[in-house]
Amino acid sequence: MDISEEKRLEKLESFILSSKMNDLAKNNSKGNIFLNAGRGNPNWINKKARLAFNRLVEFGILESERTMNVGDLAGYIEKKDITSRFLKFLNSKNNIDSFLIQTLNYAKNRLHLNTDEFVKELADGVIGNNYPEPNIILKNTKVILNQFLQSALYNSEELAESTEIFPTEGGTAAIVYIFASLKENKLIKAGDKIAINTPIFTPYIEIPTLHDYQMVEVDLNSSEEDNWAISKDEIDKLLNPDIKAFIVVNPSNPGSKSLSPDSLAEIQEVIKKRPDLMIITDDVYGTFVNDFQSIYSVAPYNTLLVYSYSKLYGATGWRVGLIAANQNNVFDKLINDLPNTDKNELTERYSKISLTPEKFSFIYRIVADSRSVSLSHTAGLSTPQQIMEVLFSMTHLLEENNDIYIEESKKIVKQRYNDLHDSLNIKKDSCSDNSRYYSLIDIYKIAQNIYGNDFAIYLEDNFEEADFLINLASKNGVVLMDGVGFGTSDGNLRVSQANLPTKDYKIIGDSILKLLKEYHDEYNSK
Ligand SMILES: *Cc1c(COP(=O)(O)O)cnc(C)c1O
Repeated sequence: MDISEEKRLEKLESFILSSKMNDLAKNNSKGNIFLNAGRGNPNWINKKARLAFNRLVEFGILESERTMNVGDLAGYIEKKDITSRFLKFLNSKNNIDSFLIQTLNYAKNRLHLNTDEFVKELADGVIGNNYPEPNIILKNTKVILNQFLQSALYNSEELAESTEIFPTEGGTAAIVYIFASLKENKLIKAGDKIAINTPIFTPYIEIPTLHDYQMVEVDLNSSEEDNWAISKDEIDKLLNPDIKAFIVVNPSNPGSKSLSPDSLAEIQEVIKKRPDLMIITDDVYGTFVNDFQSIYSVAPYNTLLVYSYSKLYGATGWRVGLIAANQNNVFDKLINDLPNTDKNELTERYSKISLTPEKFSFIYRIVADSRSVSLSHTAGLSTPQQIMEVLFSMTHLLEENNDIYIEESKKIVKQRYNDLHDSLNIKKDSCSDNSRYYSLIDIYKIAQNIYGNDFAIYLEDNFEEADFLINLASKNGVVLMDGVGFGTSDGNLRVSQANLPTKDYKIIGDSILKLLKEYHDEYNSK
């Protein structure tokens, strides 16, 4: 590839560049197998929830046939005595059926749900013949998802009763909807400062600076020296009253580090002095560290929580995520504090869908805005997707203190992380707050370890991240992502431990070392 082509590629967004490199890697000059460790898509799935979904579809069809049944046409589902028919349908000796029976018992005994209502919600939900109603979230689904969030992310803080949830098309839609509604409701505007914990998932760097938002970013940096943990000084940047919102990925991507109890306490101190600070926390990797604690659970008033089932349950194709907000929250308060002209404009905006639009809460505004207000009666995540979220949640809730599925998921990424680090002969971060979902590989440091300081300095002066990545793809068939796009210093490459067979992580390490040797040979020959 010539330099000008390389320069053109360099300008692309990290995720787009990575998909371009796939083509190079597939046709790599050594004829190596193609290894794409660029993306965070996991290569494992949760079976139980999916099989249970299937059983619910079978049951839903039988139920529909009770009211009409002509050829391929069936009717609608009736609630009366549906639980007893469901129990008759299930075979307690079957693993999946017994999971559904336990789900029912849990709903009845632990959560005090009305089982006929709950079973009808499940059956209707998977059949999908009704608009999501209420549009924000199905009634019993809300109770289960709240229980899941509390168990998986709050580290025994009890917030299930006081939390509103809006299931969304993955974390992706959650993020898009939040930004749009913050702007629409004048909680952020062009020129406002927004803080992010860098390095961070690229979209969070890019969205605020789009023409749509034109915000100014303040980086709360973490670095390799601190194993990507965030220091007190960085958190204290939030004391600056010009910063309107703080967006945080926790555990971070690509740093893979969760906020320590000290950092959480520091954030609590900050919001005492900055009670109006808006926090948006993206906790999609929360279940990959032990005893995880979300910022939402220590600062519920200030925080919107984004979660996605995509990563843990291998469900990126399902598009299953959510936004959670406390009933008592700063977003509603800030809307209430807006100047009258702004408030009147917003009252007008929501007056067609609410009788008390001035009191219409922020999370409901997000739901309405997600469908341009006017289509709000058909808003909401599809009901089959909502039920899939219930089933994923139940796999955890029924195993609460010993969730083997979660433990196995952690083991997978840990093994790959260890193999990669061992093959590169670099230090591992074995702290329990390291999710190990991604690694950041510092090429300069490896160069220094193996070939000494002079070569490392030469590399720093002459190294083009894109050039190394393109060579890695086109010569060795290995696709990684650059760290710089995520906000790391130069020379860092992101490896995802999620998406390749475990045996390949040693091969990736070897490929990096081989390419580095070629760079060193060239340096020697100069
Ligand atoms: C993968 C990822 C998402 C996107 O999740 P989806 O539910 O698949 O849309 C959101 N945030 C972060 C930090 C991620 O890494």
